Formats: sequence, C-alpha cells, structure tokens
Amino acid sequence: MKKYLLASGNRHKIEELKAQLAKLGFDLKSALDYPGAEEVDEDQPNLEGNALKKARYWHQFTGLPSIADDTGLEVDTLNGAPGVRSARYAGEKATDEENVKKLLHELSSKDQRTARFRTVIALVSEDDEQVFHGVCEGEIINERRGGGGFGYDPVFVPAGHKQTFAELTPEQKNRISHRGRASAKLIDWLNSQV
Ligand code: IMP
Repeated sequence: MKKYLLASGNRHKIEELKAQLAKLGFDLKSALDYPGAEEVDEDQPNLEGNALKKARYWHQFTGLPSIADDTGLEVDTLNGAPGVRSARYAGEKATDEENVKKLLHELSSKDQRTARFRTVIALVSEDDEQVFHGVCEGEIINERRGGGGFGYDPVFVPAGHKQTFAELTPEQKNRISHRGRASAKLIDWLNSQV
C-alpha cells in the first residue's frame, strides 16, 4: 500500500485527508507517528514557501512523499494582513481567541470588510514537487458567531452565505473552503497518477 505523510499533528486535518486517501488505496502517516521530529519554523515570506519548506523537511525526514499546507486570511482593508502571519497575528504564541480579538479591533471602524482565506498545499516526493491552491472569498463580521470550526471561523462569512464558517457543519465548510478546494485539487492529481 503506497504511503504518504501529512506534515501536521492536527487530528482534524489528518482524519479528513486520511479518509480521502483511503478511497484511492493510499495510507496516510502524520507527524503524530513521528514524535521525534523537529518543529519546522514557518518563517518564509509567503504561504507557498512555508508549505514547501515543511513538505521538504518531512520528505527528507521520513523518505515518504510528503504533504504540507499553509493557510492565511487576507483582509483587503488591512492590505492583505494578517496573511502569512495569520497564526501569529496577535503575537508569537497567540491563541485563536487573541488573533480574532485583534482582528475585530483593527476592523472596528471599517465598513469595507471583504477578505479571503487562501491555502497552499505542497506535495514533495523523490523526483517531484507540486503545489495546489484553494481560495474562499468572504467577509469579516464584527462579532463572533457559531461554535464549530477553529481559528477565524466565528467571524468569517463565506460569499453567498449568511452563516459564518463556525455555524456551518464540517461537511458544508469543507465543500466551499479554501482547504477543501486545495485538497480536492491534490486528490484529483493523486487520482490521475494511480
Ligand atoms: P495553518 O496554516 O493551518 O497553521 O493556519 C494558519 C492560521 O490560519 C491559524 O491562525 C489558523 O487558526 C488559521 N486558519 C487556518 N485554517 C483556517 C480555517 O479553515 N478557518 C479559520 N481559521 C483558519
């Protein structure tokens, strides 16, 4: 059975991709299977750089074709911030709660609230590197709504919807989300290689 490695310890991301790869007859390992691995510093100037850096490290470390992703929230009136710094917007070890609080504060006097999530997924193997992009347009509302999801989900309403990502079911979110779209492209590509 062909094995892939997902450079993440996030159980939600692992289970989601594992189920999709299983349908193609592939097995998915993850950072949880390699407790001795180093944390890769996400210090690159853009999402693609970080995704490739992580996937290259994990490919070298495990020898397996390795998949890594990086996601950013781009807010137009903040000139694309927090962008590649979304995880550390309110500080190096910021929690989701602190990042959302800072975002709402920065936007408190703004009427123009359009934004988008962008995900880049990199796949690095012995003789190839591929990147897949996914975007979800929407806007930032000025209060938190919903108990699902994570990160900036409670304040992001995807275009064409009334509910925030945190009010949608995981399946509804995955169908339209940045990561869902990028991983659909990854799955299509893997499928074409079978
Ligand atoms: P990562 O690339 O998945 O580590 O995410 C980078 C930052 O974006 C973190 O602050 C996450 O909480 C946030 N983020 C990533 N994906 C999502 C999402 O689907 N919804 C809301 N926030 C997200």
